[in-house]
Amino acid sequence: MKDLTAIEQAPRDALRGLQLERLRRAVAWVEERVPLYRDRLRQAGVRAEDLRSLDDLRRLPFTVKADFRDTYPFGLLAVPMDEVIRLHASSGTTGKPIVVAYTRGDLETWSEVMARTLMAGGVGPDDVVHNAYGYGLFTGGLGFHYGAERVGAAVIPMSGGFTERQLTALTDFRSTVLCSTPSYALHLAEALEEAGIASKDLALRVGFFGAEPWTEGMRDALESRLNIMALNIYGLSEVIGPGVSVECPERKGMHVAEDHFLPEIVDPTTLEPLPPGATGELVLTTLTKKALPVLRYRTRDLTAIEPEPCACGRTLVRIRRIMARTDDMLIIRGVNVYPSQIEHVLMQVAGVEPHYLLVVRREGALDTLEVQVEARAGVAEAGPEAMRGLAAQVRRRIHEVIGLGADVTVVPPKTIERSQGKAKRVQDLRRQGGTS
Ligand code: AMP
Ligand code: ZN
Repeated sequence: MKDLTAIEQAPRDALRGLQLERLRRAVAWVEERVPLYRDRLRQAGVRAEDLRSLDDLRRLPFTVKADFRDTYPFGLLAVPMDEVIRLHASSGTTGKPIVVAYTRGDLETWSEVMARTLMAGGVGPDDVVHNAYGYGLFTGGLGFHYGAERVGAAVIPMSGGFTERQLTALTDFRSTVLCSTPSYALHLAEALEEAGIASKDLALRVGFFGAEPWTEGMRDALESRLNIMALNIYGLSEVIGPGVSVECPERKGMHVAEDHFLPEIVDPTTLEPLPPGATGELVLTTLTKKALPVLRYRTRDLTAIEPEPCACGRTLVRIRRIMARTDDMLIIRGVNVYPSQIEHVLMQVAGVEPHYLLVVRREGALDTLEVQVEARAGVAEAGPEAMRGLAAQVRRRIHEVIGLGADVTVVPPKTIERSQGKAKRVQDLRRQGGTS
């Protein structure tokens, strides 16, 4: 496999040896430098030199999002500020942002894993990378930027928004690669259609979509409407940003950059490790980061390790598409619902666009779910009767698939707010403060 770096196709034994050696170093690093880890490791009665095999990972303490908040802004840093050369932040939904830091070496690592991400889609020096992930505190923009530079591609630092300008760049600069959230890519696809620009007249070939949950149906829509191969990418600020894992062209799960990030799947309630194939919470340990290493970080993202080897030749394990976060689950009249399940249903109904908003209310003692979804242009033109018929069809499908009665409103095209970054799909008006 000439396109793969040596580590991506290393024998499992060699990789595990490297992981253990790096894990020991990472534990020693935080033991010495981060009070929170020193205390927790002491409480757990484990030291770096006690780690004899990767199974000993389970003896290490977990890290959670609240640990970032409790030590805000710099309490988890393992190096002095003069070694830090970059800060990013993730806003989250409540309170203070999560602040993350990088040394020069960390940025090297990040560029390397992002280069590997892009190379998984065949990106190289001849490519023109249209990067519509947000530049700024969000890790998406600069993460892809550095990766694209590393592979020698020409990167266009578009960031999100200014859709007109995006269309001009896509058309005139002959972009071959699109990087954005899937919801924004869909928005761009619509804007192209409206401007009368056919995707076959563009040079786009591959897209790297992530930072929010999306479905196979959405992949099909993006692939056909943009005439590209759509690859799923995953990462999170607390661990590094994008670059943790990426699909190869087989598109059957995302390979984890296991030489830098050690994945586990645990039962979110008991926190016991789960075997390959079982769905649970993804837990990640950084093996090489210096400024902000994390031990067993609970991502809240639900997925499973794919047990089968991949046909692409990579030996790195894959995680399955992340359909939900443990904290995204809505409980409506006792039924557990994830926004992605609703998206899945919507993708199967011809006549609606996958732009949608879920509004949850409490009326008396009863929770209600309203699903607002946009009609395709043709349906909207056919009049209110057609819109109502479509709403009834969606309502029926949601009831059949999820077992929940929902109020469905089919709204005219372009009425649901577009996001340039991560889409906001849920308004939970039951909670204090209104939205989530
Ligand atoms: P942030 O740190 O702000 O970039 O947010 C990271 C979070 O975005 C992750 O923990 C996931 O919940 C979500 N996320 C990132 N990539 C994906 C993806 N490909 N599919 C589903 N969710 C994703
Ligand atoms: Zn593969």
